Amino acid sequence: MSKKRILITGGAGFLGSHLCEHFLFKGYRVVAMDNLITGDIRNIEHLFPNPDFEFYHHDVSKFVHVAGPLDYILHFASPASPIDYLKIPIQTLKVGSLGTHNLLGLALAKRARILVASTSEIYGDPLVHPQSESYWGNVNPIGPRGVYDEAKRFQEAMTMAYNRYHKLETRIVRIFNTYGPRMRLNDGRALPAFIGQALRGEPLTVFGDGSQTRSFCYVSDLVEGIYRLLLSDFDQPVNLGNPSEITIKEFAEEILRLTGSDSPIEYKSLPVDDPKQRKPDISLAKKILDWEPKVDRSQGLANTYAYFKALGPQELRERQ
Ligand code: UDP
Repeated sequence: MSKKRILITGGAGFLGSHLCEHFLFKGYRVVAMDNLITGDIRNIEHLFPNPDFEFYHHDVSKFVHVAGPLDYILHFASPASPIDYLKIPIQTLKVGSLGTHNLLGLALAKRARILVASTSEIYGDPLVHPQSESYWGNVNPIGPRGVYDEAKRFQEAMTMAYNRYHKLETRIVRIFNTYGPRMRLNDGRALPAFIGQALRGEPLTVFGDGSQTRSFCYVSDLVEGIYRLLLSDFDQPVNLGNPSEITIKEFAEEILRLTGSDSPIEYKSLPVDDPKQRKPDISLAKKILDWEPKVDRSQGLANTYAYFKALGPQELRERQ
């Protein structure tokens, strides 16, 4: 039987590169696409010798053409960290809206099943805790995070419209905070920020009083969940994340212990609309996908720290 062929947009990014590896490992032919604005070719360089791997340097907000058949599409192209989407707000809106529309069109033309990457950000600063898929969210549409949150909400609406109107096979994953090797050191998110600061002997910057919570999922758990969701027959949104919740102050202290750093914690002002709490309700994923996270935070953080340490001083500087 011939191998299935999958297009992964954002393929050179943190999640995209892990997904490329996973689908190659599972025997798929993988076409990765990325405009390399926040992605990094170094994340996928090791895949180029594989004859089942192709890479297109392309911006999916413009018309997308892929020659040949496609069985599946994963739409993972988007800036995904608050400082990235503050820096490039228009591209963020375009990739979630125009990019999604282009890929839905491609999926329709190829009769491919498409899974789009949505986010816990669609719940905004949630008034319901933990967040289950039935919660409609509390999003400020015109705040600085609105460019990401609303693009992703539009993405979900457009995906369901193609599902209902065109009978396209669609899947929607709502991804909660995920971490692991290949996060960008300078993407501004808590984990790479804290590890970078600890490695450089600088103070760890905790925003606000650090009492806000997040729940961090290790990347291999997330990838397994996405794989199961793609192959399932469930077309409604599914939360994937690790429900183990922690305050950001405690998280910074964990990183200090892990790295053996004696850096102090420095408190900075809280970004606008920073969600006060976030924790996924994953009962649906458990039921539909028989999935739950397996890697606990101490193991996941140890793997991630080992990756950053192994980069060496020059690459650490380059990735700043
Ligand atoms: N945060 C922090 N210091 C940093 C970066 C982030 O205290 O250097 C906080 C941020 O304000 C938020 C939490 O850590 O409350 C998680 O932020 P991140 O950017 O990782 O992801 P978010 O969940 O906000 O998208």
